[in-house]
Amino acid sequence: MVSPSQVYRSTRSSDNEVKSFEAAVIQGLASDGGLFIPPTIPQVSEDELFNKWSKLSFQELAYEIMKLYISESEIPEKDLKDLINRSYSTFRSNDVTPLVKNTTGSSNNLHVLELFHGPTYAFKDVALQFVGNLFEYFLQRTNKDLPENERKQLTVVGATSGDTGSAAIYGLRGKKDVSVFILYPTGRISPIQEEQMTTVADENVQTLSVKGTFDNCQDIVKAIFADKEFNSKHNVGAVNSINWARILAQITYYFYSYFQATNGKKNKVKFVVPSGNFGDILAGYFAKKMGLPVEKLVIATNENDILDRFLKSGTYERSDEVAATLSPAMDILISSNFERLLWFLAREYLASNDDLKAGEIVNDWFNQLKTEGKFQVSSTAIEGALKDFDSERVSNEETIETIKNIYQISENPKHYILDPHTAVGVCATQRIMAKDNDASTHYISLSTAHPAKFADAVNQALSSFPEYSFEKDVLPEELKKLSTLPKKLRFVEKADIELVKVAIEEELAKMKL
Ligand SMILES: *Cc1c(COP(=O)(O)O)cnc(C)c1O
Repeated sequence: MVSPSQVYRSTRSSDNEVKSFEAAVIQGLASDGGLFIPPTIPQVSEDELFNKWSKLSFQELAYEIMKLYISESEIPEKDLKDLINRSYSTFRSNDVTPLVKNTTGSSNNLHVLELFHGPTYAFKDVALQFVGNLFEYFLQRTNKDLPENERKQLTVVGATSGDTGSAAIYGLRGKKDVSVFILYPTGRISPIQEEQMTTVADENVQTLSVKGTFDNCQDIVKAIFADKEFNSKHNVGAVNSINWARILAQITYYFYSYFQATNGKKNKVKFVVPSGNFGDILAGYFAKKMGLPVEKLVIATNENDILDRFLKSGTYERSDEVAATLSPAMDILISSNFERLLWFLAREYLASNDDLKAGEIVNDWFNQLKTEGKFQVSSTAIEGALKDFDSERVSNEETIETIKNIYQISENPKHYILDPHTAVGVCATQRIMAKDNDASTHYISLSTAHPAKFADAVNQALSSFPEYSFEKDVLPEELKKLSTLPKKLRFVEKADIELVKVAIEEELAKMKL
């Protein structure tokens, strides 16, 4: 039996076509340009939540959640449990995503949810460790009965300005029948990020250092996806943040941290999420809609504030240029996953719960975005969004001030050091706490990266403290060692699609997949 929350439709579709979980994950983007969503969100009762789920480990909870979205006929129980256990065995914490409680003192319910204990020290590992195993699982199953020369192999190609590339590489390293090529702009990512990517020795991994900008790299990747001949020859795949499996894997930590914050009891809880492409916080929206009693999900943005502006004005409008901020993983013009929320808003508030009508409305909005650079959503839908969301915009100065402030006032632990993305979230949290002035609410502020990954901003904030040392207080041993390892990378002399295609084909030929 497949339940309605285990099939997927496109956010832009106005027909009844639905896909399986496997098709939605492997295909990534729907053919009409929309994103896949489960139109029905499964419901969990309070009894189930507070008498059963609150007592589960991270992995057990992940299984309970995922099985609601994946039919047992697609992935049997034993296989799904095995996928989950393997995916989180690479994390350095038993809790997978530990909660640092009462960071600024026991009278303040400000808790920091550390999502960076995976292999690349950033939150994207929570999803990409699982997605890598999932790709391999589906490919192995397809290939099981095929002769050697007909095996399906996936060539994952992506561009990165830092975090996504290394998380994708660590998710896919050593996986059977998958190769991964990550393009990055030569000299324009941080040394640690470059070391993380280029020191992975697995044969199926190749980094391409491209002379150009991140936008050049991104354009080349887009052109490769659009290249039908290259695509059908190499079966090009993506692991970008619009993949539904990434959202699904992130739902777990909302439930898990809620129970940790409240000791398994129902209580007032707000989540604050440093947001860029809206993938992280969208998982929180699913948790809330499944029945987790969350008061608000707070979107924290840096100066690239399209989401904050939308919630305040109802107009979704791209700026002309990305601002380069101290939290580069959130430097975006358009927030790709936001389309999924727009679909649910359109259906509930503008389409009388009709899936097909919702698809039509979203399609119209995105056509307008393309032609006019913006669209306007009616106040009914915005008022609806404000029942679940709040938003705060945080400047570079405030980001630095927050790193400083928390270093000075933190009690658990003392001298707690935030990365700049996390600081955007914590700054927003402190603002909301001051506005609410309610000691009984729990605030869970999501920490999306280890401070060692963003040395410049952290040092800028803390170097004036005499006792502070980056080497001693921030940099983990494991990351120190990276600089001593051999690097594997291939330079591409010019940001040119033909040169990149040649590089991929030459390297593919050398890989024995
Ligand atoms: C990707 C990323 C974010 C933004 O997450 P979205 O899902 O794109 O909103 C925030 N912080 C860090 C460190 C990231 O790598």
